[in-house]
Amino acid sequence: MAHVYGLDAAGEALLAGPVTAAKAVAAKFAAEVDGAGRYPAEAMAELGKRGLWGVALPKAVGGLGGTPGLFAAVVEELATACASTAMVYVMHVTASQMVAASTTLKDRDAVLRDMASGKHLTTLAFSEKGSRSHFWSPVSALVESGGAWSTDATKSWVTSANQADSYVSSAQAPSASSPLESTLYLCRRTAKGVTVTAPWTGLGLRGNDSAPVSLDKLAVARGDLLTEQGKGADGMLQVVLPWFAVGTSAMALGLCRAAIAATAGHLSGAGFDSGAKLRDFPTLRARLAHMSMRTEAARSLLGRTVAAMLAPAADTPLLVLQARLAALDAATEVTDLGMKACGGAAFSKHLGLERVFRDARAGWVMAPTVDHLQEFVGRALTGLPLFG
Ligand SMILES: Cc1cc2nc3c(=O)[nH]c(=O)nc-3n(C[C@H](O)[C@H](O)[C@H](O)COP(=O)(O)OP(=O)(O)OC[C@H]3O[C@@H](n4cnc5c(N)ncnc54)[C@H](O)[C@@H]3O)c2cc1C
Repeated sequence: MAHVYGLDAAGEALLAGPVTAAKAVAAKFAAEVDGAGRYPAEAMAELGKRGLWGVALPKAVGGLGGTPGLFAAVVEELATACASTAMVYVMHVTASQMVAASTTLKDRDAVLRDMASGKHLTTLAFSEKGSRSHFWSPVSALVESGGAWSTDATKSWVTSANQADSYVSSAQAPSASSPLESTLYLCRRTAKGVTVTAPWTGLGLRGNDSAPVSLDKLAVARGDLLTEQGKGADGMLQVVLPWFAVGTSAMALGLCRAAIAATAGHLSGAGFDSGAKLRDFPTLRARLAHMSMRTEAARSLLGRTVAAMLAPAADTPLLVLQARLAALDAATEVTDLGMKACGGAAFSKHLGLERVFRDARAGWVMAPTVDHLQEFVGRALTGLPLFG
């Protein structure tokens, strides 16, 4: 049967070989990564070694030249094993796509080569203390000084904050008349003025190292710019948002698949002294059926979306938003139903369900949040501009 995300034979082979190997490493350390709240170093190293850091980068810089569908398939598999790994990976691939789209970054292809070969990990640093989830409206600003710029910023969540070599960051352009007039730039983690200000501890995705970062008088040179001044929103909406939406949708759906597998296994295996199994209760079977239906419906929409992204039409951006909405909504409901179907056993660690349940909550609050997505889709359907 054809893969739901439209993989060709090479994509299927990648999934069966390198991705399966990386997934096995992610699975081996997933409980430890979650328990200790530590970065999934082993799985990320395996993904780098196998060329998967460059999954969607052009072949000319050593990437695999993969489609959004291939990216989705890789992320979904990883998320069935370890969502923290999937999250770190999604942020890297998304941010690297912004670097690949840049026409202004100095030595861009050398940076991309390092990203594709597993030597340079990148991520996004959009969210700020003052703009919260409104990533399209940064509060920080680039201030001109002698042909270059400097900036101060309080970035509130940066996935892989302590591990990434660079952050794809945002600020208002110099003399911007609105926060929407932003600029994207590449911030090196080791640059003067960059400080990770607190450790990351969270309910879910506990290995994703999404810590706060302060930028103090960070120097931004012309060659660090990822977009022209004032054109940051184009990069955010046309490049970052679609890749982020595909990646996080796939992550949510991998979590759904993990919840279904754990629930089906428990209902089929656990039983009473009388010999009856949990699966003998129609209510529990109905819950499992609903979990599967929600998951497959959202996977189909994501499949349609990644196909549309290959030949974009006027409604493609709307599909992208709806695919993320459907996947996040499915993930919270499906993992909740899994917890209910498995009862008290789901509260303990051995089923793996409580981790999946916690991890699935993160996508809901990541910008664009479910509230933003509903608002954007509703505005688009009623002919209103995206931002009111
Ligand atoms: C695990 C994790 C990893 C993350 N990684 C990164 C990262 O790598 N880079 C990065 O830049 N950010 C990252 N974020 C931040 C994320 O994208 C959001 O910015 C953040 O979660 C918002 O939290 P907040 O408390 O500021 O939300 P708030 O903005 O305070 O929102 C609170 C509530 O209000 C709702 N709301 C807000 N605005 C509107 C609106 N206009 N209309 C309707 N409802 C609205 C929200 O949906 C939410 O329910 C990460 C977040 C998490 C949880």
